[in-house]
Amino acid sequence: MSTPNKLPSYDDLLAQAALPRLEARVLMQVASGHAREWLIAHGLEPAPEPVVQKFRALCIQRKRGEPIAYLTGEREFFGRRFVVGPAVLIPRPETELMVEHALGLLSPNARIVDLGTGSGCIGLSLAAERATVDVTLSDVSTAALMIARTNAQALVPEALASGRLRLICTNWWQAFSPAASFELIVANPPYISAQDVHLAQGDLRFEPATALTDGSDGLTAIRSVLAGALERLLPGGTVLLEHGYDQGPAAQAVARQLGYKRVTTHYDGNRLARLLQASAT
Ligand code: GLN
Repeated sequence: MSTPNKLPSYDDLLAQAALPRLEARVLMQVASGHAREWLIAHGLEPAPEPVVQKFRALCIQRKRGEPIAYLTGEREFFGRRFVVGPAVLIPRPETELMVEHALGLLSPNARIVDLGTGSGCIGLSLAAERATVDVTLSDVSTAALMIARTNAQALVPEALASGRLRLICTNWWQAFSPAASFELIVANPPYISAQDVHLAQGDLRFEPATALTDGSDGLTAIRSVLAGALERLLPGGTVLLEHGYDQGPAAQAVARQLGYKRVTTHYDGNRLARLLQASAT
């Protein structure tokens, strides 16, 4: 233990944190700016006062429930590091399923739009995996678009510079011309019903409400995206939409009602219905 006038060591601080060891370590990396290996090698050394303060502040935030990704400012998605913050949804592993399916569908010069892009994780993963596709990222939130742009700059700077990738501020299809056409339309829209108790639990309490729920039955955004997508899909094109585990049949019904063809549902690693795939032709 440290004496009052002696600064605690890195290891002392980790032991006093009263957080799961792994979380405390990650927060110490943020507070100190040192890598995990460095902290293991130097654990017995006293931590500088600013590090002590910062670490303790981060521990308090974490104990209040703030997501680790917002405290570290990043999350890995499809093998890449994405900057995140409270203006965007934290990318989820199940959304990687969308990227996998999308990659299987794309032609080399495909035009793609990622609606409600948030951190940009879906569209930027596609732009990074396929050097010749053309990608539009859209979001209604300018704060989200700033984060998506930061990620674009870090992950696919050449695509931004060449105009192969662009960002647009719009509420779903509003700012798009009716003539805009795409081979692939992807979205992970806010699909949680306003009544869902999960909104008051875990990380969701800290994420932007508009990224999570439509404030209604959970299908409003899915309807808007599908309705606008129908007239903007190129022949043979595909729409891929993430939805809730219990929305498979409802999402399929919306698509069929609108006149979509080849409507299917894909299941995630937990065998939960997660992804709607549909074509206009
Ligand atoms: N497209 C982003 C993601 O999948 C953001 C989605 C959202 O905010 N609903 O993480």
